[in-house]
Amino acid sequence: MSMVTEQHAISANDARTRLEWIQDQINSVTDEIGLSTDTVRFVGASKAQPLTTIRAFAQAGIKACGENYLQEAITKLDELKPYDLEWHFIGHIQTNKAKQVAERFTWVQTLDSLRLAKRLSDARLVSHPNEPLNCCIQVNVDDESQKAGVSADSYDELVEIATDLPGIRLRGVMAIPKPYPDLTQRIASFERVKEMFDNAPKPQPQYWDTISMGMSEDYLTAIRCGANLVRLGTVLFGPRPTK
Ligand SMILES: *Cc1c(COP(=O)(O)O)cnc(C)c1O
Repeated sequence: MSMVTEQHAISANDARTRLEWIQDQINSVTDEIGLSTDTVRFVGASKAQPLTTIRAFAQAGIKACGENYLQEAITKLDELKPYDLEWHFIGHIQTNKAKQVAERFTWVQTLDSLRLAKRLSDARLVSHPNEPLNCCIQVNVDDESQKAGVSADSYDELVEIATDLPGIRLRGVMAIPKPYPDLTQRIASFERVKEMFDNAPKPQPQYWDTISMGMSEDYLTAIRCGANLVRLGTVLFGPRPTK
């Protein structure tokens, strides 16, 4: 069943139907593997989606959205302030944008360097002294040269140092595995991410709880491999409008 069709404005009612459908899909997998339904949550990957679409989903009760580009995101955050949305940054962060990201977002899923970690922590301590920024380390699980994320080599050091930064609360890992057409290869990537999460050196155990992987094409597989946060764009909002 595909929920991905129209390009025209979506109503809050349609948005609610889609949210329920996604939740049903997720529940069927958590039932199957014996997890309680609230173990797994999703963020709407809303990049390139118009404000009207995201507003309809906000009215329909979506809880979290993720954005990739700061400028685009700031407008959406400002316009959608009346809704109680939890905003995640899920795009690559240039260090000169770190301050604004730390001030405006609740989560950063794309922490990929020590330099960035320190900048985010410093800025967050100023803007939210008692509310650390939730962060996931982005891991480059398939060692793709053009892709963001830390390699297995730098991962341990980043976990150890970022854990101690007071403006950051290190929550886990995030990955965008290579979209292998062959599902068994994708599963192998997901399993490596889960292993990196499990084998992290000395994180703060009470906060180390998040494995963010899986997108529209493969989120149910990702959940079976241990994901408890999936990032859904197309399957939820419909195709991204071309500019
Ligand atoms: C766009 C995007 C997604 C969602 O992609 P879909 O395939 O449309 O679900 C998830 N994660 C990140 C980091 C993205 O940039």
